[in-house]
Amino acid sequence: MELNKRQDEILEIVKADGPITGEQIAERLSLTRATIRPDLAILTMAGFLDARPRVGYFYSGKKKDQHLTENMMNMKVRDFQSIPVVVQESLSVYDAITQMFLEDVGTLIVVDDQSKLTGILSRKDLLRTAIGGTDLEKIPVHMIMTRMPNIAYCRKNEALVHVAKVLIERQIDALPVVEETEEGLSVIGRITKTNITSAFLSLAENHDL
Ligand code: ADP
Repeated sequence: MELNKRQDEILEIVKADGPITGEQIAERLSLTRATIRPDLAILTMAGFLDARPRVGYFYSGKKKDQHLTENMMNMKVRDFQSIPVVVQESLSVYDAITQMFLEDVGTLIVVDDQSKLTGILSRKDLLRTAIGGTDLEKIPVHMIMTRMPNIAYCRKNEALVHVAKVLIERQIDALPVVEETEEGLSVIGRITKTNITSAFLSLAENHDL
């Protein structure tokens, strides 16, 4: 977990002079208690600091929560990725819908005839087309997909938390896992919100809660 500058300063103060009250820490930083309250809350929740009523804050040494943070940072895409479900650009929207049901996935990854990543199809992309009243057997998926270079993707050695951040920031459900080749990006897996949820669960199961 990365701390900001002020959180680092607070940590240094408490390490050197704890136990120390929030009021005193604020004074040392020439800030108000209210200003540093969120930082103290983060440091306490993350296990860097412990707080005792009427005593103040003291440095916890991070024990248990340090392990939790480290375990979390060590979770890699490769350990949680699923098999990619890919379709060709020329597939009809009708067949893509069928494929989505058959494969029981929410996101289809689109590739060209060299099997390189070119697009992504979500449930709503297909629904939008389906309610448009056009002949779904006549429209190829490349006409409706989200296409490169706008695809968010990841690599197998990336930290899973990084993927989680991209999913939340871009408000999407899945990322293709790719490998770079001379011809383009080869799709080797996919990471979905379900994979992140199972990673979250494995973290809880490995931790003495
Ligand atoms: P849904 O459409 O079921 O809400 P998403 O939230 O995943 O599913 O998709 C929202 C939009 O973002 C869709 O238009 C989809 O094509 C696009 N999209 C999905 N995944 C990605 C991705 N990895 N990179 C870029 N765009 C994506």
